[in-house]
Amino acid sequence: MNLIVLMKRTFDTEEKITISDGRIQEDGAEFIINPYDEYAIEEAIQLRDKHGGEVTVITVGNDDAEKQLRTALAMGADKAVLINSEEDIEEGDQYTTSKILVGYLKDKEADIILAGNVAIDGGSGQVGPRVAEGLGIACVTTITNIEVNGQNVLITRDVEGDQEKISTSLPLLVTCQQGLNEPRYPSLPGIMKAKKKPLEELELDDLDLDEEEAAPKTKTTDRFMPPEKAAGRILKGDTADQVKELAALLRSEAKVI
Ligand SMILES: Cc1cc2nc3c(=O)[nH]c(=O)nc-3n(C[C@H](O)[C@H](O)[C@H](O)COP(=O)(O)OP(=O)(O)OC[C@H]3O[C@@H](n4cnc5c(N)ncnc54)[C@H](O)[C@@H]3O)c2cc1C
Repeated sequence: MNLIVLMKRTFDTEEKITISDGRIQEDGAEFIINPYDEYAIEEAIQLRDKHGGEVTVITVGNDDAEKQLRTALAMGADKAVLINSEEDIEEGDQYTTSKILVGYLKDKEADIILAGNVAIDGGSGQVGPRVAEGLGIACVTTITNIEVNGQNVLITRDVEGDQEKISTSLPLLVTCQQGLNEPRYPSLPGIMKAKKKPLEELELDDLDLDEEEAAPKTKTTDRFMPPEKAAGRILKGDTADQVKELAALLRSEAKVI
């Protein structure tokens, strides 16, 4: 089975993020594999171990993403591909990323492409479905279980807490949701092996794509932190007075009654 994982290197949003001039400052930020993509890598490895085949992890980014690709190889992926678009395109959007991924994938005959449900930084959830559309294959989002039987695939997907069962067939793109599996940590032998696994680096030219074809369709004009919230107020006095004061404040300040 030819299994492909789309992996994004993201900011660790648990760490402090600084924005200036509408851009997130990369200095001092921590970078990780997008957590939803860890589910995708784990599921691809499990599917390969069950059905045979190969797992290739792909990222569109720059040289810095090699670290996260090596981590995916240490988890158990077989090959990694870094599509380095930095030289050709200064600013990209979801259209750019998916156009580049489709450019790479169009002749790769993938059976299953696994993406994350959403990237925890950009958060648009567009790249997976856009890639499926570009390749003309089925797409099922937010999956929590997948069973492959020959060409037939049975999927359970999360629908805002409810579950939906979908029957479809290969080739297919899925986006992975929390609950799909427990991603493994890379083992020490895995880390040693990963150093020797193939990591191919490509540029837009290698995909027969030029920068105009992948030019973004949108432009982010600003980015800013939410305004700081004012401190809460603690009412004092006996309960009856507090209730009166609270009702007055809800009317005069919060204007909700
Ligand atoms: C050349 C280029 C320049 C860019 N320049 C800027 C910039 O100047 N400013 C800026 O803020 N952003 C920039 N970006 C990033 C871009 O705007 C989005 O972050 C990116 O398209 C993903 O969208 P998202 O974060 O909403 O991901 P989502 O659509 O939420 O991600 C869902 C899933 O798609 C897959 N995926 C997403 N991104 C990638 C990727 N890069 N490689 C492989 N798989 C992926 C993963 O499986 C992920 O879990 C650039 C991207 C490119 C390619």
